[in-house]
Amino acid sequence: MRSLELDGALLRFDRETGTNQLVRGGPFERCVQRAPRVVQMALTNQCNKTCGFCYRPLDAASGWTFADVLAFGRYLSDWGVLELALGGGEPTVFPQFGDLVRQLWCETALAINFTTNGKRLTPALIDQLRGHVGQIQVSVYDDEDVDAVIDRLVAHGIRFGLNYLVTPRRLATLDADLLAWSARGVRDVLLLSYKGDGGLHLSAAELRDLDARIVQLHAHFAGRLQLKVDVCWSTRLTHAPQLFFDSDCRAGSLFLSVTSDRRVLSCSFADGGVPLSRFDELPAIYLQLKHARQAAQVAGCARLPAFGIRRGRRPALPVYPEAR
Ligand code: SF4
Repeated sequence: MRSLELDGALLRFDRETGTNQLVRGGPFERCVQRAPRVVQMALTNQCNKTCGFCYRPLDAASGWTFADVLAFGRYLSDWGVLELALGGGEPTVFPQFGDLVRQLWCETALAINFTTNGKRLTPALIDQLRGHVGQIQVSVYDDEDVDAVIDRLVAHGIRFGLNYLVTPRRLATLDADLLAWSARGVRDVLLLSYKGDGGLHLSAAELRDLDARIVQLHAHFAGRLQLKVDVCWSTRLTHAPQLFFDSDCRAGSLFLSVTSDRRVLSCSFADGGVPLSRFDELPAIYLQLKHARQAAQVAGCARLPAFGIRRGRRPALPVYPEAR
């Protein structure tokens, strides 16, 4: 297991199993965090889907090459980062993606994880990645056959989880979806909150319902399916178990985001960012972002007053393939 000092605690992490252990009290109260636990990296903006809601410029060229990403991974590993989470766009469209993940795994101590829409997760790619990747996160889209992707991943015995955006409509089928996926062999589901304008935010009553159901579902699936919640839910879920629960999401502290045009942000929903010209500038940028506690200017951000969500009559729901 590798260890990372957090502020007032020690985190131990095993990249083979994805196990996190948080140690508090005694001498660990003096710990100071000097590196993020995870760096989320957009390899490319390019994608093999064309979702209407996507805000990324899909044709923007990536500022990363294969060699750069490897060098960046080595730097992060030496700095003490535990996990590199690759995303995009769609990360699997990055040239030689399978070779890149394998080399990052072999040449660093990082857990190499990635988030994908699953369309390019062929048996050949899964075979190439097996034993050289931490966890694959598959985003659930209503217009994609996620069951087929699940069956492929289960058959190949590779660790994976689902990213499930909880919207008012999906709340109605949450229990049934989880039961069906658990029976199919899914062992990990991350429940994501919606960020953005429009009618996809949960009402106060729906949030209370979700909170209570997560508690019940945790008990029901104990030892069979891990149910996780993203940090942006924050205090909107008061009973659902959260590993790092406090009122702040710890963006810029627990995790950093790096864009495909090489800017460093406190989270992927934040604006602006600090250009990254040399890797050894990263610790100073990290301290700057950690202390700034910047809010993302998007409805649903836990750092905005009332989460930046204007309540009232919910507008008509846009028809989206609900992802992330
Ligand atoms: S800054 Fe806002 S959007 Fe970003 S992770 Fe934190 S709560 Fe979520």
